[in-house]
Amino acid sequence: MTPMDDDKLHEECGVFGIYRHADSAAHTALGLHALQHRGQEAAGIVTYDGKQFHGHRGLGLVGENFSSAKVIDRLRGHSAIGHNRYATTGETVLRNVQPLFAEFAFGGLAIAHNGNLTNAMELRRRLIERGCLFQSTSDSEVFIHLIAISEHATVVDRLLDALHQVEGAYSLVAMTDNALIGVRDPLGVRPLILGTVEGAAVLTSESCALDIMGAEFVRDVEPGEVVVINDSGIDSLRPFAPAAKRFCIFEYIYFARPDSLVEGMSVYEARKRIGAELARESMVEADLVVPVPDSGVPAAIGYAAEAGLPFELGIIRNHYVGRTFIEPTDQIRHLGVKLKHNANSASLKGKRVVLVDDSIVRGTTSTKIVDMVRAAGAAEIHMRVASPPTAYSCFYGVNTPTRDKLMAATMDVAAMADHIGVDSLAFVSIDGLYRAVGEAERNALAPQYCDACFTGDYPTSLTDHEAGDVSRQLSLLEEAV
Ligand code: SF4
Repeated sequence: MTPMDDDKLHEECGVFGIYRHADSAAHTALGLHALQHRGQEAAGIVTYDGKQFHGHRGLGLVGENFSSAKVIDRLRGHSAIGHNRYATTGETVLRNVQPLFAEFAFGGLAIAHNGNLTNAMELRRRLIERGCLFQSTSDSEVFIHLIAISEHATVVDRLLDALHQVEGAYSLVAMTDNALIGVRDPLGVRPLILGTVEGAAVLTSESCALDIMGAEFVRDVEPGEVVVINDSGIDSLRPFAPAAKRFCIFEYIYFARPDSLVEGMSVYEARKRIGAELARESMVEADLVVPVPDSGVPAAIGYAAEAGLPFELGIIRNHYVGRTFIEPTDQIRHLGVKLKHNANSASLKGKRVVLVDDSIVRGTTSTKIVDMVRAAGAAEIHMRVASPPTAYSCFYGVNTPTRDKLMAATMDVAAMADHIGVDSLAFVSIDGLYRAVGEAERNALAPQYCDACFTGDYPTSLTDHEAGDVSRQLSLLEEAV
């Protein structure tokens, strides 16, 4: 696997779908390539050619699975859905790789989702008791079984029946023999966008997947909306009771690509505004502003502009760290962060540095980066973080360590500064973050976004998680299946 930074939260999945395009498989591969940052462990595409469904799934990056013409040619069809995965629930084995596909009495159905069902374990237990045989440990399979046992007649009604039973955060794409379907959960926690390319409708997690193929942005799928795209056009259904939107605010901080528009807002501009808020809230005497690349760059630009300080690339990122170091030797693993980053002593020596990063999760990488900047001769290091302290785990489709591993859950800011080894440390306030994304402040009674990893204010019930450790429950179920 590409080395992942365990000091970041990781978005779990990207989804893509296209209806009625001659190059549906190639466009889906391109879309997944643009969404690669949302999941690097596995990728899959299912197509439909008017008679048959075709699928290809593999562990690893999109380019490793879909760059061969032979693979794309085999994926015949006018419609396709695809998925990038970074496991949330369920281990990374091929049978867990989406899209999942099942043949029903009414025809075939392929399904892929981004997010996490917070009652998947409970539903799974009930389904197993009814005799359902699970092939995978992926919570997406819960949808398949709920659809299979539904007593409704049409596939759309069966899907709606399933959706009414699941809780959590998800954006879902599904494909039948006559439709492409997109769904956003009632709170709209995870993104889903509608676009169009050469007359074909497209669904994607982020707009950057539209840009890569010259597609046009149409609109965000609304929270709680089900869009059914078929030869008659696009039908919009609202099967859920209205609920206040709770889009994931972390998409603006780190998950989404900076060139994406999410919920109508430029991610890059939002990150610059977070940096400016940070400067206003925690200005410090310094000589220059240095980002931790790449994710700290836009916030550092915003900070530098607001503080009137020079912006310098004091840390250089090696973009070619990748699969060369799969399962590295202990000696190489020990190099850790140095494989990916190097301090640029020419700009750091003797300087008072404001070091800007987007978030701190465990604090492990931050500590190493600070050591590196200090060793390169920085006179002072003032760390500024473009998110509030991450003190709670996410249960909505993001890979988060358990709470006890989150630095902010166990230490106050002064202790964190000491642990990381900086001269000062400050995080943007929750109200500063809300200001940067267009609100006056956080409304504590009715928060406008999901911000649970900062506040612990979860927007849904957490049935499975209240019942205990989900990965342990899954492995017990895995043994039982
Ligand atoms: Fe996003 Fe945090 Fe909410 Fe998870 S808990 S959906 S990362 S804001």
